[in-house]
Amino acid sequence: MAEKKNNAPAAKKKPTAADLKAAAAQLEEKETGVKKNTAILRVIAFVLWALAAVAMYLPQIGDTNWPFGAVRMLFMNATVECIVDLIVAGVLCVVAARLWVKANHIHPTKLHNPVLQFIWNQLGVLMAGVIFAPLAIILIQKNEKIDPKLKKIVAAVLAVVFLAAAAGSADYHPTTQDAVDQVLEQTEDFGIHSDSTVYVTKYGYKHHYYEDCQALKNSNTVQAVTLQEAVEGHHSDVCSFCATRAAKDAGVTESVEEALQPAA
Ligand SMILES: [Zn+2]
Repeated sequence: MAEKKNNAPAAKKKPTAADLKAAAAQLEEKETGVKKNTAILRVIAFVLWALAAVAMYLPQIGDTNWPFGAVRMLFMNATVECIVDLIVAGVLCVVAARLWVKANHIHPTKLHNPVLQFIWNQLGVLMAGVIFAPLAIILIQKNEKIDPKLKKIVAAVLAVVFLAAAAGSADYHPTTQDAVDQVLEQTEDFGIHSDSTVYVTKYGYKHHYYEDCQALKNSNTVQAVTLQEAVEGHHSDVCSFCATRAAKDAGVTESVEEALQPAA
């Protein structure tokens, strides 16, 4: 009989650390009744993407010649302003994308279509493409108004900024609500309750389920509070190490090492 058990059909795909972290966050929401506001993160992300577009394409407004609008600066042969605008746009793209990813790691996409899931999770990379592509098209076209030397410099900077922005915007541990639901199905509860004791530090913004968590080793400001107090304070994020370990203790995964492996 025991042998037969070993030949049981392979378990479903192992949850990734990102799946487990989102599952822990959602369990906490249920337990504490405090909803994590991810909508605001998404709104700020779109505002920052809009500002990146402004840094790239702000037209002349009235008589005021703002130093923003990389394309306008290019046509004015203002090399330094053009390059600075490109870098500002790149930084805004990355910050926007990180906020988008942070929201996704708490409330992942509910879409079931793998293509749409990919678009949702890697929206930051796509937005960087949308924001930088028009300048690339302008640079490819023949245009006598732009100094050829400046054109080459701007093309090189654009390539570097775009690649850096894309790399900084990608979600390397994407998750979906389907994957999170699978975790939640496997265990009703990680043993997380609103009055559970968790550990926070004075300067950290995460809370920990385990006092001996490796992330707490070097802190001398560890304090025990209830989960409710932690999430209502400024410690609303759960530590990845602790979320994974709690999942392991609840029997969701066989080993922490396996759980921390990104999905194949
Ligand atoms: Zn921890």
